Amino acid sequence: MRCFYPINLILLSMINLLILLMLNFPLGSHLHEKSIHNKPNQWVIPFEASNGLESATYQQAIDYYNRLSKAFNEIHIYSYGKTDIGKPLHLVIISKDQDFDPESIKKANKRVLFINNGIHPGEPCGIDASMMLARDLMMKPALHKLLDHVVVAIIPVYNIGGALNRSCCSRANQIGPKRYGFRGNARNFDLDRDFVKENTLNAQSFAELFHMWNPDVLVDTHTSDGADYQYPMTLIATQKDKLQPMVSKYLEKVMKPDLYKMMDHTKYIMTPYVESYKTTPDSGIVSFLDTPIYSSGYAAMFNTISFISEAHMLHPFKDRVWGTYTELKSLLSITNRDYKEIGKIRAEADSAVAHQQNFATNWSLDTTKYKRITFKGYRAGYKNSKVTGQQRLYYDESKPYTKKIKYYNTYKATGMVQKPVAYLIPQGWRRVIKRLALNRVKMQRLSRDTSIRVQMYYIDDFKTMKRAYEAHYVHHDTKLRRDTVNYQYYKGDYVVYTNQKDNRYIIETLEPKSIVSFFNWNFFDSILMQKEYFSSYVFDDTAYKLLQEHPKLKKAFEDKRQSDPNFASNHRAQLDFIYKRSPYFERTYKRYPIGRLIHNIKLPLMSE
Ligand SMILES: [Zn+2]
Repeated sequence: MRCFYPINLILLSMINLLILLMLNFPLGSHLHEKSIHNKPNQWVIPFEASNGLESATYQQAIDYYNRLSKAFNEIHIYSYGKTDIGKPLHLVIISKDQDFDPESIKKANKRVLFINNGIHPGEPCGIDASMMLARDLMMKPALHKLLDHVVVAIIPVYNIGGALNRSCCSRANQIGPKRYGFRGNARNFDLDRDFVKENTLNAQSFAELFHMWNPDVLVDTHTSDGADYQYPMTLIATQKDKLQPMVSKYLEKVMKPDLYKMMDHTKYIMTPYVESYKTTPDSGIVSFLDTPIYSSGYAAMFNTISFISEAHMLHPFKDRVWGTYTELKSLLSITNRDYKEIGKIRAEADSAVAHQQNFATNWSLDTTKYKRITFKGYRAGYKNSKVTGQQRLYYDESKPYTKKIKYYNTYKATGMVQKPVAYLIPQGWRRVIKRLALNRVKMQRLSRDTSIRVQMYYIDDFKTMKRAYEAHYVHHDTKLRRDTVNYQYYKGDYVVYTNQKDNRYIIETLEPKSIVSFFNWNFFDSILMQKEYFSSYVFDDTAYKLLQEHPKLKKAFEDKRQSDPNFASNHRAQLDFIYKRSPYFERTYKRYPIGRLIHNIKLPLMSE
């Protein structure tokens, strides 16, 4: 397979032989299951050995998968790409058919369930849960059956740098484990926000893995913050209104209800992720808007059904890990059951997106729409803080309640854009081109220098965050003006047609107004600075001449003087008004350099 480097040769150990025999004879496997749970053996993980108090270190996790890979033909561990700490990213593949080629797996109509762990290594429930799940899928016949139509892909630890920066207590509010990693990666990035801008090697390697495996279902495992309530597990399913409608319908009508039902039959009851409408969940909870900066929002752009599992920080680590395990197992079970339907829906969704004309670029909560859901909470109150004497919130765990609360779960598109026939990207914008390539966007290149009539945006206005956010001073509220121009392109410049299944990624990153656009992430800040100016004493005479020669300009200038006394008393501002409307002013200032091809004309393209 392309770019994959097996770490281990597959060696069938004595244990493997035994287990394969047991899988063929249910009675034997039952005995074996018992032995796993009742006495320590080589497959017990640190979490189990410590009675749920400890989480595996990065090295323990990798060593464990290496051993599984040696023991079972159905498990491979690959090292792939780099991460910011210098170590490679690992991917564990569990394939019943022992087929580890993503292309042939898809051809065999198998689904791929992709599990990402340790993006926040201080929230390691999924690291331990996945180790046990991988083992149990091999050793428990009932679970092994779940691999009939699904290949499981596991990133054991995504934020390796953070996982190696281990301590007792960087998550001040969380109950256990004893030691765990830190949220920031080797360069202090929060990888959970890096899926579009891809600043880190971790995110760049992830993008390659993601597109290589094209997961049908993705789960990113976390531990929650925030309010206290009875549920050990909460769930962010990717926001339904921004998911492709066919995929969304299946998620909302089938997968999510079945997943909740399955969890309800265990002690690991689950509720939608709790983001309170006001201060406490009684006021209602709001569906989380997972924009594409997050893994689930990113995956949703490619019609992947995606989840963020959030175990509740105030439940013991032991319960959180088993809750995460139960959730992963349940999702695997549903994916296996519905493998045909999921495959069909995703193929249809890909085709629909390739033909779709209008795309949403922003979303906002519709506060007029909610449904009522049953919620098991704890009564909240206020009392004086022993520290500050001020009022503080508390939840009384001795006063549980079950009641209906409002669940605000509808988002409306607040920006729409009609796609062009293609985007034209001058080759100098290398960081953008690199990301499009990492995300397997199909790009072609011009075969010669040529002038092409395109629609271009001018950035009329935008706001910028005052503080650095993930190494960026992010722009927002970007306002645009359109112009149609003949633009000079050069041989090798890029053409991105919008007839692709990855249209959402193309449009949401390249349309400057989009909430997650490369423009808003500062990739084009060089266009925001004016390069040439004028000397007032020289330009004064030129400006006078311009006004005499251009009555329309003169009228606009006089109107401005009439309506704006400050302007009328500012010599430089008045000359600047004329300068900016004259041929002397640079056309590149605030001109977004990616052109939109509106008419489908034949372009000179290099042969592929
Ligand atoms: Zn998290």
